[in-house]
Amino acid sequence: MAEDVFDAIIVGAGVAGSSAAYRLAKAGLQVVLIERGPFPGSKNLSGGVLYGRVLHDLIPNFWESAPVERVITNQVVSFLTADSSVNLDFKTETFNQPPYNGFTVLRARFDRWLAEQAEAAGAMLVPGIKVDGVVKRDGKVVGISADNEEMLAKVVIAADGANSFIAQQAGLRDKIPTGHAAVGVKEVIGLPREVIEERFHLNGNEGTAYNIVGFATRGVPGGGFLYTNQESLSVGLVIHLEAMVERQLKPAEIFEDFLVHPMIAPLIKGGKLLEYGAHLVPEGGLKMMPPLAADGLLLVGDAAGFGVNNGFVVRGMDLAIGSAVAAAETIIEAQAADDFSAARLQSYPSRLEKSFVMQDMRTYARAVDFMKNERLFEAYPALLSNILADIYRQEAQPKKNLVPTLLKNLKASKISLLDLLKDALAGGRAL
Ligand SMILES: Cc1cc2nc3c(=O)[nH]c(=O)nc-3n(C[C@H](O)[C@H](O)[C@H](O)COP(=O)(O)OP(=O)(O)OC[C@H]3O[C@@H](n4cnc5c(N)ncnc54)[C@H](O)[C@@H]3O)c2cc1C
Repeated sequence: MAEDVFDAIIVGAGVAGSSAAYRLAKAGLQVVLIERGPFPGSKNLSGGVLYGRVLHDLIPNFWESAPVERVITNQVVSFLTADSSVNLDFKTETFNQPPYNGFTVLRARFDRWLAEQAEAAGAMLVPGIKVDGVVKRDGKVVGISADNEEMLAKVVIAADGANSFIAQQAGLRDKIPTGHAAVGVKEVIGLPREVIEERFHLNGNEGTAYNIVGFATRGVPGGGFLYTNQESLSVGLVIHLEAMVERQLKPAEIFEDFLVHPMIAPLIKGGKLLEYGAHLVPEGGLKMMPPLAADGLLLVGDAAGFGVNNGFVVRGMDLAIGSAVAAAETIIEAQAADDFSAARLQSYPSRLEKSFVMQDMRTYARAVDFMKNERLFEAYPALLSNILADIYRQEAQPKKNLVPTLLKNLKASKISLLDLLKDALAGGRAL
């Protein structure tokens, strides 16, 4: 008897998997979307600003039915020392108009909604099944195995996140080396809507995103975030793994210090812990990008290593959706040609090269190394803070103009002029 063969099996119903399933089902392909959690989103942790233009292209005006939390109208970059903060605060009404720039989302609700859209388009969602590996015949991926059973398909999409067991098992990549990984820790802290709106000066559905560098991570390369949801805050850190281990620090202790920092503590005061989680974040960028296509297999989203973390923003969801759409469109063409060979599927990386996904990965390729510069996390926040303290501190002593104040603090900071110039140049090219 002939075995059932689906057009596509997608492993993982995160934003990448459900977007690919939606696009393929809309094109009339028979798609199975398998998720190990009891429901899509149940295992997902993300800081939660979705830069939504790419999703708007896939599902026009998605915000009208999706469980988005707040429209991000206010972006703040904060530099922390142990006892001070310097904020660059940007607010614009232009981000508060359709199609909007970004929304906060809570993944448990958002991923569920996105998977429902894929289901409504015709995809078959199978939650509660952990895929154990790929099935290979004659060197080609022809399906997946789970619970000692096999399910066959013309093509498999690995959308199983940062650790992608599927990509490892198919021989496309290894575990993320610690030098290319960060650990993300996050809490969702409940607060009444009115308190959030008053505390963050928000009108209605407006929202704020803080991107925080410096003492947030006790000087370890990485950064913090604090995002406003409707009735909660998403607060967390992304900490470079290798540097943290070298300093013999643990994520939980760095996070505890962050939460009691004088800038953070008043923002979360009175809040109730609703959720806590930790997750691996791929940080190698282009350097650790595996082959994206093999015979019968494509990698999308975090499984492929798409992510940008440059101090101003953390992005992964929009790149995951963009890569998923490119993978789906490649498969639609492969289906028409009835050819799922590696050679045919190579049009996926070529497609990505033309899209914002790979172009942004290239634009921010240098950010990966730049963001490991330890001066960013201790010396520069301290320098900024000391300069501003000198400007604002009024004593019964004669004041100095800006240039001597800058030079005095630069000298005291032990940052050489050459380092300053080199870092300014490197930052300008990396960010
Ligand atoms: C702390 C933190 C903060 C972040 N903040 C932001 C942000 O503000 N904005 C942003 O855009 N990005 C952010 N990111 C990155 C973003 O979360 C990821 O880039 C994005 O979730 C990638 O989507 P994905 O669908 O590829 O993978 P995931 O969201 O990880 O989804 C993978 C799915 O596969 C499932 N799965 C895994 N293995 C199996 C298996 N064997 N069988 C079946 N199912 C499986 C999982 O349960 C999961 O549902 C953040 C990440 C972290 C950790």
